[in-house]
Amino acid sequence: MLLTISTTHQPATDLGYLLHKHPDRCQSFALTFGQAHVFYPEVSADRATAALLLDVDPVAMVRGKNRDQGFALAQYVNDRPYVASSFLSVAIAEVFSSAMAGRCKDRPELVDTPIPLSARIDVLPVRAVEGFAQRVFEPLGYTVETVRHPLDEQFADWGESPYHSLTIRGTKTLSELLTQLYVLIPVFDNQKHYFIGQDEIEKLLSKGAGWLAAHPEKDFITRRYLGHRTSLFRQALSRLVDEDGDDSLDDTDVAVAVEETLETTISLNQRRHGTVLAALRASGAKSVLDLGCGEGKLLRELLADRRFERIVGVDVSIRSLEKAQQRLKLERLPESQVDRLKLLHGSLMYRDERFAGFDAAAVVEVIEHLDPPRLAAFERVVFEFARPQTVVLTTPNQEYNSLWETLPAGAFRHSDHRFEWSRAEFEAWGNRVATQHQYTVRFAPVGPEHESLGAPTQMATFERSPANATA
Ligand code: SAH
Repeated sequence: MLLTISTTHQPATDLGYLLHKHPDRCQSFALTFGQAHVFYPEVSADRATAALLLDVDPVAMVRGKNRDQGFALAQYVNDRPYVASSFLSVAIAEVFSSAMAGRCKDRPELVDTPIPLSARIDVLPVRAVEGFAQRVFEPLGYTVETVRHPLDEQFADWGESPYHSLTIRGTKTLSELLTQLYVLIPVFDNQKHYFIGQDEIEKLLSKGAGWLAAHPEKDFITRRYLGHRTSLFRQALSRLVDEDGDDSLDDTDVAVAVEETLETTISLNQRRHGTVLAALRASGAKSVLDLGCGEGKLLRELLADRRFERIVGVDVSIRSLEKAQQRLKLERLPESQVDRLKLLHGSLMYRDERFAGFDAAAVVEVIEHLDPPRLAAFERVVFEFARPQTVVLTTPNQEYNSLWETLPAGAFRHSDHRFEWSRAEFEAWGNRVATQHQYTVRFAPVGPEHESLGAPTQMATFERSPANATA
């Protein structure tokens, strides 16, 4: 696949300085998935063009972990080596990293100067409605030209392919052009060759700074950039909304509100925190970790009880932590209280030394937000590495859902729940985890109990077995 960048800025040879690639040389770079070559097919004082040719190694793709799971031969017969995809974005970021970051020590003034630029991509798979390229690039101030290629020139009746040649033109800084291509190329292709995790949000927000929040196709771009991972999409969107200065409710707020209305008829939320608090008090814990603390409702109750001397809330969502900070009025706490409560940004998927050394951990309505294949990582993080004396954990009882008239059959209580367990499933899981990590476990219902369906919430209290029992 080929990306060419041209300029008619005078002298056009400045492009070489901006790209940090000498116009007289052909250079090659080894990437994990193939080879990138940079050369200049035309260089004069009036016009210069630099080309990035990417040679994706299909054999390495088959052997590596980037396997496409389509049909049986998809590993061998696919368009990856020929189209502009997330591979091209990675190549841009690696080969043109200084240019993308806006660094140029020989011509520093050029970095911030918009110059006439055009970029052409052969070929870009556009897996979206006709005219999508215009909707994406025109609001950013580019003119757009696309040529759609037929599936096979010899068989016109096979129709059109998703493959286009795309040219965009605009007066931009080179850094802006490269950054926007970096974010937007995978959006057209709609597949990514690497795992899309939390750090992709950070990448999207930093690379999208200054242009994405106001883009009319912001939702679409964000959703596709994050590979349709709904929870990441919501988080990213809520933060983009913030950048926009728009304080309207985001999807997460709405989903949480739905869950809360569903549950407030019996003020389940308060009962749950009350029961968890009682279990923590009974354990005799002085230091407590609230894992997945959300907006800090349990933290507030812990703070009100002086027997808890050290309280730490952890969440993966920065927005939730910010709300917790406001709710708890942390900046207004008296000096003597400041050290009692801390908020940490962290994930329960990764071993973290900051979680060690606590008497107890609360994990309230969190595990059902984790992808089932990743529960094993959570178990190790909490029960093997953090290893508090007591773990108090709650999750919905799926059997109870049928009692909620407003909840459609088979639906989860919250759109971000990945699973909801019956009592038998939860107890099987809890018993297995306890045995594996030398804990004992007790189960208790939380909320009003139905005679055959149980209570809306189920709670497990794990106690670490004495060290000599594990030896
Ligand atoms: N415990 C709180 C919030 C429950 S909602 C309460 O009872 O009110 C679930 C919370 O888990 C959310 O705030 C979400 O951001 C957090 N969460 C989800 N996955 C997480 C992970 N991998 N690491 C840390 N927190 C996570």
